[in-house]
Amino acid sequence: MIDATERLRLSGVSKTFDGSGNATRALSEVNVSIKEGEFVTLIGPSGCGKSTLFNIVAGLLVPDPGGRMFLNGAEQAFDHLLGKVAFMPQRDLLLPWRTVLDNAILAIEIEGRSKKEARELARPMVREFGLGGFETHYPQQLSGGMRQRVALMRTFLFDRDLMLLDEPFGALDALTRTMMQRWLLDIWSRHRRTIIFVTHDIDEAIFLGDRVLVMAARPGRVTLDEAIALPRPRDAAVLTTPEFMETKRKLLSVIESESLKSFNG
Ligand code: ADP
Ligand code: MG
Repeated sequence: MIDATERLRLSGVSKTFDGSGNATRALSEVNVSIKEGEFVTLIGPSGCGKSTLFNIVAGLLVPDPGGRMFLNGAEQAFDHLLGKVAFMPQRDLLLPWRTVLDNAILAIEIEGRSKKEARELARPMVREFGLGGFETHYPQQLSGGMRQRVALMRTFLFDRDLMLLDEPFGALDALTRTMMQRWLLDIWSRHRRTIIFVTHDIDEAIFLGDRVLVMAARPGRVTLDEAIALPRPRDAAVLTTPEFMETKRKLLSVIESESLKSFNG
């Protein structure tokens, strides 16, 4: 049955990388369902296949035969997915010779808009993304947090039904990261996009998400799907509530037991 509010469904998605003689099963039978407007965080130890999963959904990598993917109820061919979702890869990929504004419009320019039209679309968003006055700066003149906001603005401008963010705040210091999390929730509450957000930070996963998916390694698979009932809007006070602590304890124990299994295995 087709559920109209289901943005993304993955069913039985696996991925094996064939090395010379030794194959790596990076993903094994991943099943995921994401509803329209949901903010889902995906957490798991490094190497468990998070980026591989994103590369598949973004159309950069074709999974093993047998897996299926649906966007808004319609089945997709894995080799015809490019451009269907908005994807911010793990590295920010800003072009050093392009200004802030021209980096932000890159994806919609590639899509076929003229530079002039793309810039008109981007200008009203500059202030919202905390980049007012920096439109003509170059990436090397920006702080880490600002660079990530340029990359995020590019991803928001590439207006798709589903947005994949691969550890967007992973390289930031703790204080900047905290501020970016709150800022992102604010942006999300106004734009109401459907987001899957990869992180390896448990606090971040709980603070941001409507739901946290926990992945385990070797082979990569989803081992827990935990709804986060914390009220929104969320601020720093949420981090010390008993509900937050309880959820964190639960996630930690699942992640630890999975990690131990993979160490011993
Ligand atoms: P994560 O993003 O969770 O850190 P990745 O998806 O990057 O994990 O990697 C998952 C596993 O797949 C790792 O064991 C990694 O070495 C392997 N892998 C990823 N990409 C490739 C590739 N192109 N070729 C071979 N192995 C790969
Ligand atoms: Mg990764």
